[in-house]
Amino acid sequence: MSGTPYAFLRGEMMPLADAKIGLMTHAFNYGTAVFEGIRANWNAEQEILYLFRTREHYARLRKSAHVLMMDLRYSEDELIAMTEELVAKSGFQEDLYVRPMVYKSQEVLGVRLHDVEDDLLIYCAPFGAYLDLDAGIRCCTSTWRRADDASIPVRAKVNGVYINNALAKTEAHHNGYDEAIMLNHDGHVAEGSGENIFMVQDGTLITPPSADNILVGITRATVIELAEKELGLQTVERTIDRSELYITDEVFMTGTAAHVTPILEIDHRAINGGGIGEVSAQLQTLFFDAILGRLPQYSHWVTPIPAANLVGA
Ligand code: PMP
Repeated sequence: MSGTPYAFLRGEMMPLADAKIGLMTHAFNYGTAVFEGIRANWNAEQEILYLFRTREHYARLRKSAHVLMMDLRYSEDELIAMTEELVAKSGFQEDLYVRPMVYKSQEVLGVRLHDVEDDLLIYCAPFGAYLDLDAGIRCCTSTWRRADDASIPVRAKVNGVYINNALAKTEAHHNGYDEAIMLNHDGHVAEGSGENIFMVQDGTLITPPSADNILVGITRATVIELAEKELGLQTVERTIDRSELYITDEVFMTGTAAHVTPILEIDHRAINGGGIGEVSAQLQTLFFDAILGRLPQYSHWVTPIPAANLVGA
């Protein structure tokens, strides 16, 4: 069943098609906004749509807003309830992406953070697979360096920062790769254009620490917990050199859009002989079981919305 996407704008729910902002909106002109991406995953067998880790996404949104000196004027519980209502009203029975944003909403000129009004908006849209997570992907090291915390903090999910990500993604695409791996300013591995990165080495997961200019991903935290609790694998957060990726056992990326995506090749070097690694495959399966509400021990991560509630407005 197809739906009609809804949006929350200026304190009201409305069809996305009617949700408009003015040309002079500060955030549109200067990128002064912070956002989240939350997935709702459709479990066709159960006929239930599961929102994933909504509370954690809103907690990160609040922190991102704080960095840009904006206030998220709703509690986590209110935000979760609004998200459930928005998704239910939209009526889709398929995978969705929910996009909350705290943005400088005033129509005013002048580059600054102070003395500009801000507001919250949320919308949703159907969203399928982002990368080929069944086949695995080919990556290149980007010539674009990850923005540095001393220039723009990337631990806040700031809209304007994503020019950095878009430059890397498009360069990778035009050069025939699926995704870019970005190094930070001191030349160490940071992350993908919209994903965190992990190596698997001798049965241990290794991923860059939060101070290496990464967005501290919610999927990253999910995978670290699943690896430890379900597979007995520890994760070490440490700085990673580019060439370590070439010779490690397995490499994969994690993200709300990318889920758990195995990497088969980096800079023309095959990883794990060019096949999907065992640990990557196991984590991918566990992750899908978790996001589709199949693991009772992780039911606190998901918010189920049964088909009966996905009625459209
Ligand atoms: N890094 C960047 C730059 C991202 O945009 C994302 C996607 N939000 C991630 C990592 C992964 O974060 P999460 O798992 O919370 O989606």
